[in-house]
Amino acid sequence: MQNDDLEFINCKDVLRCIEHELDKPSRAQVAQHLGLSRTAISMIAQRLIKVGLVKELESAKKGRGRPGTPLVPDDSTWHAIGAAYYSGTWSFVVINLLGKVVVKHHMPVISTDMDKIVTSLIEGLRYMRSCCPGTMLQGFGIGSPGLVDHRTGSVFRADDLGWKEILPIKEIVEQRTGVRAFVINRYRANGLAEIRFGNHNRSHNMIYLGVGTGIAGSIYLDRVLLNSTKYRLGHMVIDPNGPVCGCGQHGCLQAMASEGALISFARSRMEQDPTFLGPIRRTTLSGKMIAKLAEEGDDNARQCIAHIAQPLAIAICTLANAIAPDEVIIGGPLGDTSSYLVDCVRSRVYERLLDWQVADMVISKGTQGDYGAAIGSATFLLDHKLELIFGESCPD
Ligand SMILES: [Zn+2]
Repeated sequence: MQNDDLEFINCKDVLRCIEHELDKPSRAQVAQHLGLSRTAISMIAQRLIKVGLVKELESAKKGRGRPGTPLVPDDSTWHAIGAAYYSGTWSFVVINLLGKVVVKHHMPVISTDMDKIVTSLIEGLRYMRSCCPGTMLQGFGIGSPGLVDHRTGSVFRADDLGWKEILPIKEIVEQRTGVRAFVINRYRANGLAEIRFGNHNRSHNMIYLGVGTGIAGSIYLDRVLLNSTKYRLGHMVIDPNGPVCGCGQHGCLQAMASEGALISFARSRMEQDPTFLGPIRRTTLSGKMIAKLAEEGDDNARQCIAHIAQPLAIAICTLANAIAPDEVIIGGPLGDTSSYLVDCVRSRVYERLLDWQVADMVISKGTQGDYGAAIGSATFLLDHKLELIFGESCPD
């Protein structure tokens, strides 16, 4: 079955209905929802059951007539491996078809050198493959830093790590492991996990902003990821006279509101005031450390967080005026850690927008935590499961 075959497209639609759009539907309900015949749906459902993607539940008798048998995703057979690199660490997960994490692993990498980071990735993927339960989808989902070309799976550049050369990460992983690789930007992956598993069911058009050593965002229209390298929310210019960004421009969102901006503001205040950030001034500062202290109510840490909240708020107002999302989620290592950051951003955004814009837009905190990007990368792989399982020919 080719990916553009009508049969393949119908299979994909039926699976999407069962996984996301309908709650435990019968074959008749799927047929009605998709406007296809019951015979066609029965054949497709049988195929999906045979390969272990869907299972039948006991039918519940309701009213008169023969009850339909509810169809649900089969969470016992297929498993997906995802990996993502954040703050000097590769995180790895195995998830089932419902996004439940069944194995977790992480490996610190004490270097931003491309080769060392890729070597650790390969080592981690081999380990995860050795402990993947059930049947492994023959692919790896990889959440990479930097600008990822979604057609080639190469990384163009990663300004926060100083990578200026093209890294053909998909090609390298496939050559060294013999398994297909599906590469996505790590924050985009984190956003995907958030949209699917983070309880945002009431929103349709969403923007996810991942805030960490870099800032990257993703846009979901009707809950579908707009997966293009050509929009770069982290490089929206907030202040043309602001600090220089790794991309060469001045005052990009990433240069003004990422972990680097947070730490450099904290250091400059510490130089002026010997008591500033007293509880952590003798340690090597990290963004998460400042965020945690702000959560505990420390005034100095809260000043630092407020400093990066302002450019984030300006960026969100611009996005609200251009796209009018139902929801903006602030995630990544800093967003997931700091309710204070999200509260600060929310109040600054609401001050700037009109009342009717505010009424229609929720600003929420990321919920996926340290493994969110790895879960999202595995989810990105799951989105390709039909082509991986059926390949070129579909079992009858
Ligand atoms: Zn930039």
